[in-house]
Amino acid sequence: MSAGAEPYREALAAAVRHATLWLESQSTRRVGPQQAARELAAAFDGALPQSGMAPAAVVDYLARHAEPGLMAMPSGRFFGWVIGGTLPAAMAADWLVSAWDQNSVLRYATPAIAAIEDAAGHWLLQLLGLPEESDVGFVTGATMANFTGLAAARWRLLKNAGWDLERDGLFGAPRIHCLVGKERHETVDVALRYLGMGSPTVVPADSQGRIEAAELDCALDRIALDHAAASGQSSPPALVLVCLQAGNLHSGAFDPFGAAIAVSKAHGAWVHVDGAFGLWAAAVPELAGLTAGVEGADSWATDAHKSLNVPYDCGVVAVRDAQALRSAMGLNASYLLQDVDGAGHPSQRVPELSRRARGVPVWAALKSLGRDGVAEQIRRLAASAAQLAEELTAVEGVEVLNDVGYTQITVAFGDDAMTRRVADRLIADGKVWMSGSRWHGRDVVRISVSNWSTDAGDLATAVDAVRTALEAARSERS
Ligand SMILES: *Cc1c(COP(=O)(O)O)cnc(C)c1O
Repeated sequence: MSAGAEPYREALAAAVRHATLWLESQSTRRVGPQQAARELAAAFDGALPQSGMAPAAVVDYLARHAEPGLMAMPSGRFFGWVIGGTLPAAMAADWLVSAWDQNSVLRYATPAIAAIEDAAGHWLLQLLGLPEESDVGFVTGATMANFTGLAAARWRLLKNAGWDLERDGLFGAPRIHCLVGKERHETVDVALRYLGMGSPTVVPADSQGRIEAAELDCALDRIALDHAAASGQSSPPALVLVCLQAGNLHSGAFDPFGAAIAVSKAHGAWVHVDGAFGLWAAAVPELAGLTAGVEGADSWATDAHKSLNVPYDCGVVAVRDAQALRSAMGLNASYLLQDVDGAGHPSQRVPELSRRARGVPVWAALKSLGRDGVAEQIRRLAASAAQLAEELTAVEGVEVLNDVGYTQITVAFGDDAMTRRVADRLIADGKVWMSGSRWHGRDVVRISVSNWSTDAGDLATAVDAVRTALEAARSERS
């Protein structure tokens, strides 16, 4: 017999209470955590207790003891990495997903989830301007979305070369030549490594980190020539995979998709796009030029937990060639669509079998915003970044290093030692959080505007915090 709601009631009420307090604290609390993991450990480790604790008491204990070790990532003053906040509808939907406890493997077993995720997938394709026939999978993040898209690429390229990947594996398979831009995200390399495809050929990038289409063309020519020389003119062409990027971590820049995809396609390449946060520019008419031509690729990776602002963990992969995706990921391998209506089981589009219904918060976010709301959210992130860059440029001693055309700003404060000192001051001060990094041989501070709730007051606080940190760092030096 089901226990009903009674055993859950107090624990859920406690969770609502603590979550509300946490959210309320976001506008005023210091952004960084107050204690390190080492200091927090005492409350959580030790021997596993012999006897248990009531569920609501566990939630109270957890919330109380975790609090000093939490980072105010949902705060509008958090500008670190590319970490968005969470939209209200998405957060509440995510709680519901836990309560529903649907294991979203099979279409007929969890039909509500299949229908909701299908709808979310279609909406995403429309919003991001991607081919409607693409298959969509909901994975943990862009890392796994890259992995999944590239696994489909690997399957298709080898299939076309007459190689049976399921039966014969990779050993002895024809080589796949992978090309990436100099400033691609490292998770692309990780995904290629997971897939046994080794290290990619690196193509030069311009001052903003965009792949140079002409250099890509040369690299592709070189591969074709070397391949022909090694295996004879009449042999099948080299297998080529090109990874492009929408949204450079430091500059926010976009690869020139029209030109880069044209030269890649001329060489018969599969083109994959890592658009973790950048692909969302396509949802904004005024920014859509940034992603122009991106629909000509074969697979796309993005995050819903960045620019869209759903809770972790939620990434999205879209693959035009559904057969390649399902063959690479399906349990049955080999494109047998064993379901009732031919739509395929959700598990055929992702690496996992059992998983939570992570597409549901995406649907909720899109439903709550609508097309206009998504456009407005992304437009505002970019506009806030532009405003912040302008105001920071006016502060003496601040150098904005990139052309700010999307959500990312990279700044330096003179030499590396000074930049590091300012970065440390900013973190210690606690009013904002910005990430230290290195770009083009310099220590930098990276600012990402990725939270729907960042407002004019937060931007003013950020400029003020930078000014204060700079002054403090200068007086420290003199
Ligand atoms: C964040 C990011 C990734 C990795 O995404 P996860 O969601 O952390 O797995 C990949 N590429 C780019 C461009 C990113 O910004």
